[in-house]
Amino acid sequence: MDSSNRVGSISVTLLGTGTPIPDRDRHGPSQLIKIARDLVLVDCGPGTLHRLLEAESNVSAISHVLLTHLHSDHVSGLADLLWAGWVGRWWTTPPVFVGPPGTEEFIKRLLYAFEEDIRLRTEEGSVTIAGLHPSIHEIEDGWTKTFHEWSVKGFRVDHYPVKHAFGYRFEHDKNVVVISGDTCICENLQMHAQDADIFVCEVVWAEGIKRAIETSHGPDKARWERILRYHMSSLEVGKVAANARVKHLVLSHLMLMNGSPADLLVDVRSSFDGKLTVGEDLAKFSTKAE
Ligand SMILES: [Zn+2]
Ligand SMILES: [Zn+2]
Repeated sequence: MDSSNRVGSISVTLLGTGTPIPDRDRHGPSQLIKIARDLVLVDCGPGTLHRLLEAESNVSAISHVLLTHLHSDHVSGLADLLWAGWVGRWWTTPPVFVGPPGTEEFIKRLLYAFEEDIRLRTEEGSVTIAGLHPSIHEIEDGWTKTFHEWSVKGFRVDHYPVKHAFGYRFEHDKNVVVISGDTCICENLQMHAQDADIFVCEVVWAEGIKRAIETSHGPDKARWERILRYHMSSLEVGKVAANARVKHLVLSHLMLMNGSPADLLVDVRSSFDGKLTVGEDLAKFSTKAE
């Protein structure tokens, strides 16, 4: 459609495009969504807080934190975020958390791990536990929340053996942004990516992981095989985007496996001829410009 006729837009900033392996240029997976007047964080991997400060001056405006699943690379930055907001008094109550079953228990145990710090700070009397403990909604497939001007839907993806993994689809007027979460190719992702203006999808370089499987043995080999089974390869992601008629495919959570962004582009181009970007930390995209 003609983007000039659209009301509003959605912007996506990639706060981290990396993996569980530390990389000074690519922090852990996280996306910041600006939609109407709201800011929403999707996942909070290692390094997210500092990328967030680089990307956005109004961090206290984050209304929701959406989690795709509870793998450490997607949630290990949460303590940084929660404590910065608490000690820095960014908010009187933290953003609302939305995540898979198990999120409530995860946050409860996180707070328990920091029991000593919480006791010391609350005893000083300048902060209360209300400023640290978010309200939490655990979701199921099809969970939808509608706000005044926009909506978000959580949909199940296939990251087996992770039992509960989700992607998110944001809509504002006729603008659509979809975040894949971690997943292999699956029908529910295909369905929910339909007609996305921006589709942020994870990817592993197919040739690189094939080589790793061929040249390793025992538990290492099994590990690479497992990773390939529950992630999206560079030869598959273009097919999903093409079938869904995605306008702009943004690759993130890059498992490059000794390859390069150019290697990913070659593979994806074999099946997708729309707009294509290999994500970088702090890259920002808007549906208005699509
Ligand atoms: Zn994962
Ligand atoms: Zn991951």
